[in-house]
Amino acid sequence: MNSARTNLIGLSREQLIEVLKGLGEKPFRATQLWHWMYHRGVTDFTAMTDLGKPLREKLIAGFYVGRLEIKQALVSTDGSRKWLLRLDDGNEIETVLIPDDGRGALCISSQVGCTLNCDFCNTGTQRLVRNLTPAEIVGQLMMARDALGEWPAGVDGRLLTNIVMMGMGEPLMNFDNVRDALRIIKDGEGLAISRRRITLSTSGVVPMIARAGQEIDVDLAISLHSGDNAVRDVLVPINKKYPLEELLRACAAYPGARNSRRITMEYVMLKDVNDSDDDARHLAHLMRKYKIPAKFNLIPFNPWPGTKYECSSNNRVHRFSQILNDAGFSAPIRHPRGRDIMAACGQLKSDSENQKLKALKEKRESEGETATA
Ligand code: SAH
Ligand code: SF4
Repeated sequence: MNSARTNLIGLSREQLIEVLKGLGEKPFRATQLWHWMYHRGVTDFTAMTDLGKPLREKLIAGFYVGRLEIKQALVSTDGSRKWLLRLDDGNEIETVLIPDDGRGALCISSQVGCTLNCDFCNTGTQRLVRNLTPAEIVGQLMMARDALGEWPAGVDGRLLTNIVMMGMGEPLMNFDNVRDALRIIKDGEGLAISRRRITLSTSGVVPMIARAGQEIDVDLAISLHSGDNAVRDVLVPINKKYPLEELLRACAAYPGARNSRRITMEYVMLKDVNDSDDDARHLAHLMRKYKIPAKFNLIPFNPWPGTKYECSSNNRVHRFSQILNDAGFSAPIRHPRGRDIMAACGQLKSDSENQKLKALKEKRESEGETATA
C-alpha cells in the first residue's frame, strides 16, 4: 500500500532536510516534522497544523509516517510486555519492555536472527538473518510508545524510560543502521532519550567497540560469560576471532569508561560450565589487570527446547555474586522476568517459528496419509 511512498521514520535529520529541499522547503521544516513524529507520535500529516497546507499535501502525496505491524502482544503477570512484530518482507522480530522500580527498559532488536551462533542463545539457532533498517529499529520504540499511550514524550511517570540494545541480533554487526537509529533516538528534537539511559550490548565485535564509543556514545555492556578463552571460544564463538585480551583492552579504552559510567559485564550462569568460585575470582582479577571500571550483571540462564545447558543453582549464583562483591564489584542477579510470556532473547520468535514448522509437519503428514490411503 505504501510502497510508492517514502517512510519518513528512520531518515536522518540530514536526509529529511534533503527530502524537504526537494519539495522546495526550508531546513527548519525538518525540526517541525520531527516534533510531530517523534515528540507527539503523530502519523497523520493533516494533523501537523503548522506545516502549511501546500506542504502537507505534498507530504501526503509522496510520503508516510510508518508503523511496524504488531502480530502478537503479550503482557506478563509481572508487568513485562512482549511484542512480536511482522516486517514488510514477512520476517518477524521481537521487542520486550521490562519495567523495574519506576523505570522501564525497552529491549530492542538489531537484526532478524544473528550470525554469531552463541552456544547457549536461542537467537543464534534461527536460520534467517538480515540487518534491520534504521526505520525498523526506531520503529520498535515508536510501536511501544503507541502501545503504552506514552505520547507526547518526556512526561514524568512513563513506563518506557530506558533503551537496551539487547534484543535479537548483534548490534555491532549492523553498525551503521544501529548508529543512525540511535542518533534519532538520542537527538533532543528526535525521541530525546538521553545517552545515559541507553545501553548497547555486544558479544565482542572488538574493532567496532572503539567506533561505537566515538560515533554512538552510549553505555556499553559486554556479553562476557567467561574469563577463560577455551570456555568462551565455545560459548561465544566470536571469541576465536577476538580473544579476551583484545576484548578487555578495547573495554579499558572505551571513551565513556570511568567510574561514573561503568561497563556492564553480562554473565549468564551456566551450571558446571562457568560458575565456579575460581571463575568468579578470576573475573575480578581480569577487571583489575585490565583496569576496567566494571560492574557485573549475573543472568540466570533461560533454558529453551533443545539446549544442552542448565541454569546454575540459586545458591551457586548467590555465592558467585558474593565473591565478586567481596572483590569490590557490584554483581546483581537479574531476576528472570516474563517467564510466562517467554520474554527472553529469541524465545517468542522461535516459538512462533516452531508452531509454523509443527503445522507444516502435521499438514505434510496428513497429506501423506491421504496419498497412501
Ligand atoms: N547480541 C548481543 C545482544 C543481544 S543478547 C549480545 O550478545 O550481547 C542479550 C544478552 O542475553 C546477552 O548477554 C546474551 O548473551 C544473553 N542471552 C542470550 N540467550 C540467553 C539465555 N537463553 N538465557 C540467558 N541469557 C541469554
Ligand atoms: Fe547473537 Fe548475542 Fe545471541 Fe550471541 S548472544 S547469538 S551475539 S544475539
